[in-house]
Amino acid sequence: MDVETVKATLLSSPVFLLDATEIVANLSVLKSLRQQCGVKILYSIKALPTSVVLEIAKPFVDGFSVSSLSEARLAHHILGRKGEIHLTTPGIRPDEIAALAGIVTHINFNSLTQHQQFVDAVKVRSSIGLRVNPKLSFAKDTRFDPCRKHSKLGVDIDTLWLSNVVDQVQGLHIHTVFSALDFMPLLKTVAKLREYMSDKLAKLAWLNLGGGYLFAEIKDHKPFIDLVLKLRNDFAIEVYIEPGKAVVGKAGYLVATVLDSFVSDGKTIAILDTSVNHNPEVFEYQRQPELHEHDELGKFPVILAGCTCLAGDVFGEYHLKEPLKIGDKVVFKNVGAYSLIKANRFNGYGLPSVYMWDGQKLDNIKQDSYQNYCQQWLVNGVTPLQD
Ligand SMILES: *Cc1c(COP(=O)(O)O)cnc(C)c1O
Repeated sequence: MDVETVKATLLSSPVFLLDATEIVANLSVLKSLRQQCGVKILYSIKALPTSVVLEIAKPFVDGFSVSSLSEARLAHHILGRKGEIHLTTPGIRPDEIAALAGIVTHINFNSLTQHQQFVDAVKVRSSIGLRVNPKLSFAKDTRFDPCRKHSKLGVDIDTLWLSNVVDQVQGLHIHTVFSALDFMPLLKTVAKLREYMSDKLAKLAWLNLGGGYLFAEIKDHKPFIDLVLKLRNDFAIEVYIEPGKAVVGKAGYLVATVLDSFVSDGKTIAILDTSVNHNPEVFEYQRQPELHEHDELGKFPVILAGCTCLAGDVFGEYHLKEPLKIGDKVVFKNVGAYSLIKANRFNGYGLPSVYMWDGQKLDNIKQDSYQNYCQQWLVNGVTPLQD
């Protein structure tokens, strides 16, 4: 997709732009892994559950992985009975377990208490698994580390080793990294799992290795392929992965227009018609998103800021080749995952319109409106004034 052409074509903003060709390219990498080692592929829909993404992914994957009843229902709506739906969450609710049991094919209990509480309600139709906390940390930032001290995610591997619950389940699940660019953490984690469970793994039907690896950006897949082949060969189990960001991260762009520009304490500020509310991880993790127009050697520094009242609603400082004028467009890249799904209408600014590039043309596939804003904030019985 040529970003400059797209910029020139779009008449309004903010726009969340999806490049379908990039999604297909990412899914093709996963499909090729499946062909080489038999790993089963699930798309973790929480990264971006837009229905077109699910429809594009459907022919490439064995199913979807979900974190809640709503995600499970959406996955079921798209897949029907033709694909697997794997649930992993610390938040299974007693009032939802019956509905979940009718939809999910696999369920990973987060704790021994949840397993004990709910296993009877789901075991007839779903394959039962446990999320294990292998107690091996790879993330520096503890907010991303499922194996941090006092973790809430998964059964402690030492506790599990001492209990006999592994004998009562069909699968185990691990998920311990985020945006990993090599397989070292996976190799170490599986080695630890084998050390603890080698006598038990052969009695299981499956092992889910979770998400967190950016497969399309990792050049050497051989360590992964060898790992999966060996697991399948040694224990006769199915091996799953459930990537989210690896499927949609690079496929998403946020296009914004400059509404205002002025100098503040000697630096140029550009106010955009988007905000960190359209990509909340920018603020949550103080992470600066990539900008298409940025050039290390650019002579025009500018602070790109959002249009809301929050002082810290700022994307960061970038260097441009040309100064930005009011009305110019800028494009944030690599924002397909965990952006639109977390977006909100704080300050009353609507969500970005969603466009899709299919390789030939640009389509507006979703439009936010004042009606949606009202639907969220008017309580029962209050109807919006017609305008
Ligand atoms: C979020 C999550 C995923 C997907 O993670 P990515 O980093 O987007 O690949 C997979 N499995 C579990 C259990 C998750 O919580």
